[in-house]
This record gives sequence, C-alpha cells and structure tokens, in this order.
Amino acid sequence: MEIYNGKSVYGGIAIGKIAVIGAKEEVIVPVSVANTAYEKERFKKALLKSKEQLTELYSTAVETVGKESAEIFEIHKMMLEDTDYIENVEKIIDEEKIMAEYAVSKTGQEFSERFLKMDSEYMRERSADVTDISQRVISNLKGKIPDGQKLCEKVIIVAEDLTPSETISLDRKNILAFVTAGGSTLSHTAILAGIMNIPAIVASNIPVDNSLDGSIAAVDAYSGKIYINPDNALLTPLRKRLDEDKKRYLELSKLRGMETKTKDGKKISLLANISSSKDVSYALENDAEGIGLFRSEFLYVGRTKPPSEEEQFEAYKEVAQKMQSKTVIIRTFDLGADKRADYLTFEDEENPALGVRGIRLSLENEEIFKTQLRAIYRASVYGNISIMYPMIISEEEVKRAKLISEQVRNELKEKNILFGNVEEGVMIETPAAALISDKLARMVDFFSIGTNDLTQYTLAVDRQNSRIGNLYDVMHLSVLNLIKMTCENAHKNSIWVGVCGEMGGDIDACKTLLSLGIDELSVSPTKILPLREIISKIEVFPKG
Ligand code: PEP
Ligand code: MG
Repeated sequence: MEIYNGKSVYGGIAIGKIAVIGAKEEVIVPVSVANTAYEKERFKKALLKSKEQLTELYSTAVETVGKESAEIFEIHKMMLEDTDYIENVEKIIDEEKIMAEYAVSKTGQEFSERFLKMDSEYMRERSADVTDISQRVISNLKGKIPDGQKLCEKVIIVAEDLTPSETISLDRKNILAFVTAGGSTLSHTAILAGIMNIPAIVASNIPVDNSLDGSIAAVDAYSGKIYINPDNALLTPLRKRLDEDKKRYLELSKLRGMETKTKDGKKISLLANISSSKDVSYALENDAEGIGLFRSEFLYVGRTKPPSEEEQFEAYKEVAQKMQSKTVIIRTFDLGADKRADYLTFEDEENPALGVRGIRLSLENEEIFKTQLRAIYRASVYGNISIMYPMIISEEEVKRAKLISEQVRNELKEKNILFGNVEEGVMIETPAAALISDKLARMVDFFSIGTNDLTQYTLAVDRQNSRIGNLYDVMHLSVLNLIKMTCENAHKNSIWVGVCGEMGGDIDACKTLLSLGIDELSVSPTKILPLREIISKIEVFPKG
C-alpha cells in the first residue's frame, strides 16, 4: 500500500478506481518494423476508434455543456479525416519503416508547428488540437483509454490541476473524488468539489502519470490522505465513516424548507454559488434560497469564440425558470487572470491578477459585454434576475457599466422586447472598492463581498499559490476591517450586503461575518444546510 498526502479542500471519503487525467506522455522512441502494411492497418483501426470516441464525446458534451461548447469534438473528428494528416503518417511508416505510434507523434509535431506559424489566429489555436488528436490516436494504438473516455464509469480523478475548460468536459456524475498535484483551496477543483459534493484533495505529492491509471485507491479527504491498493484494516474505518456521512446527510435534509434565522431572530439569506446552468440542480437539491453568484464566465472558457446571445439567453433563462421567483444574481463575465478565453484575454501580462480582468475587460470589449447584458435582460422576464459587476475599483467603472446597461435596455425597448425589473449590484473584492463603499453604495442596489479576491489583494497573497497558503488568512484584521466598513456603508445607504467568497461557507468564519453585519451568504450548494444548522445556534447580538 502506498500513501500520499495533500491538502483537503472538501471533506469526504471515496473508494474506487483511479483515472489519471492529463498525464505527461512518455517520449515515444522510434522502433523499426519489417511489416509496414501491418503498422498502417493498426493506424487505420486506431483512427476509426478515435473517431467513434469523438462522436460519443460530442453527444455527451451537447447534453452537458451545450452544442457550441461541444463543437470542439466535431473539429477534432474533422482533423482526423484530413487526408494530408493521414498520408503523412503513412508516408513516415513506409519511408522510415517505423512503428505507427512514432509516425503519428512525428506527424502531430510537424503539423502542430505548421499551424503555429500561420497568420490566422484561429489556425494558430488549432496547433494544440493537432497535438490532442495525435495523443488520442497514440492512446488507441497502445490500447490505453484516452482521458475523455475514462469517465464512463465512476472514478477518482488524479490530475496535475483542473483548468476551467477541463472542468466543463468532465461528466460530473462519474466523479468519486478529485486528487490534484497542484491547486489551492481556491482553485477551480476546490470550487467545483464544493458545488458537486465531491471529496477533494489538492497540492498533493501523488505522481500524475499513467502508472496509477486503473489502480484501486481510497481517498480520505478529511485528513488529506490517498491510499493506493488499501488493505482491509484501513478500509473498514473508512467505510464506517462513509456510512456516517450518509446518515449526517439525511439528518441535514430535515432542514430543507426551513427558514435561515439566527438564535436571536435575524433572518439571513442563504443562497448558492453556481458555475453553469447545470449546477442549478445542486442548488435546488440543497434548498438554496436563490443563486447569489452565477459565475457566468464559465460559459466563455474552453471555446474559440464568445457564446452567442441566444446560447447565453437559454442558459440564464433555464436558471431563472428553475429557481422560480427566487433571486438569481448573474455576475457579468469575470474573465482574465486564471480564467482565460484566448479570443479575449491576454497572454503577455506580467501580473494577470492585476491586469485586464473582470469589468476592465468588459469595458474594453463593449460589444461582447452588451451581448451578455442583452441576454440577461431578455432572460429576466422568466424569473427574478439581478446583475452584478466584478472587480470594481472606482465610481467611474460603475457609472460606465450602468450606462451601457441602460443603453441595452433602451435598445430592447425600441425593439419592443420585454425585460423585467433587474437590480444592479457590485462585487466588493478589491480594497479600493471597500474603501470607497460609501460612494458605491449610492450607485447600486446591493453589495456582494468577494472575500477570495479581497483577501488576495489586501494581503498581497496570490490565492492560487499553495506555497504561501499559510499567509492567505481571511480572518486577517485588515480583511475584517474592510468587510466591517463595507457593511456599515451598505446599511447607511439602505442596501443589503452579502458575501459570495469561500469565507461565507466557512463554518467558523460565519459567526464573525454575521457579527460584522452581513445580511446574505452565497456559498457552495453543499454548505447551505450545514450553515443553516449553525446559524440557528448563533446569537448576532449576544446579551450582557
Ligand atoms: C471572490 O473573489 O470572492 C469571488 C467570489 O469571485 P471569484 O472566486 O470567482 O474570483
Ligand atoms: Mg473574485
């Protein structure tokens, strides 16, 4: 039995098979062959198998992430049908009398370099796709299961780290646990785990290579331990804990439908954070009183162009309808920094977290911003939608965002397109915004404090860097002072103030937040019922 350690970001136990995603491929050495016809036949079969897998992946992706995001699998299939590509592989096999794996790898490299030199940005982006399809063919030649196919059964995912675009292509119902080598408490792996109730360990010392693929493992995401080939002595207590967790889940379910109130009677709104329209089911399952943060930028990542107005409209409408008359706060796309969309974000920023992200990017790309606002306003007739602007640092930005939103409303009116009464709020996630919250409060309907970024920017500690994770302290007096100031300024101006950063879901921090005056908490869906229980035991204004 081997044991690895990491940092737990979402507690729980999982026992099952490992699927390694995105492992670095070993170098393919050239091996000479006598029977080239046989190699070409193997290549043809691997091609066919790859195309079948892509067809299957396309249909699954259409259902889970929509047609436009699924398009990438169609592009990959077309690339595998390219006669230049096929002839090149066969030529290498014939001329060099070499095994098919090597010929595919060499062709992949040659074509990828060719794409990189092209003038069109679209074609340059295809370079990574050629590498991707070649990798798939090589996996099939070797009889290995390619990454995308590994999730056809329930598995423990082991990866370097999950990028936002990788997360959208995972079939969520088949994930038992996440174990990553990189990542931090605020990485997307952690956020996703919280939404989906999946045990997760990040920053672990597990080797991310194919040797672990298919091994049986036990993940104890309470203590941050991963056991490969666990023995019975270890499995017995883990299975017991798994049963206890199930019982606890049933107990918490009894709080469904109840109001969230402190012991001394203050009503607290308890809403859910989501990253896609599909996450609404997790919000409903956990009895969220609304959606306090819809991270809309996830609609924009992992694709080659922004989502159309229609696609966005459908996604926002679906969320609004499913939540019925409950609040749905859609944050306009907060792209940039770690959430990249190559058609919009910049590669060459020295400090991306301090660069063109959030509202800055929206104001630079007014047409794309307007498309999103139009989709939100059109969807607003189907429920109770609000808009929230991210990464605000000045009154000027709020003024400009509100002006653009007014223009969108006017254009819709001119076309007789209906929209509802949409409130506008801002995220308080920079020290600047907190420090001018008295001014901002006069311009908007609500505040939502993004403690993830507020802590990062106040303490100058990168939220993604696990090496300085010990310095990332949401309870630092400077952060608490900024939260206090924001609450006071919100209330002075009669607007509500919530927290939508991960701190809101922290059972220990919750009491502090409520004592500072927070009215609303928007958290990972799975945190809602445990928080409802805790809040009912808290006194906001203790007597004596
Ligand atoms: C935050 O910064 O706290 C927040 C909720 O936004 P995100 O984590 O998406 O940056
Ligand atoms: Mg943020």
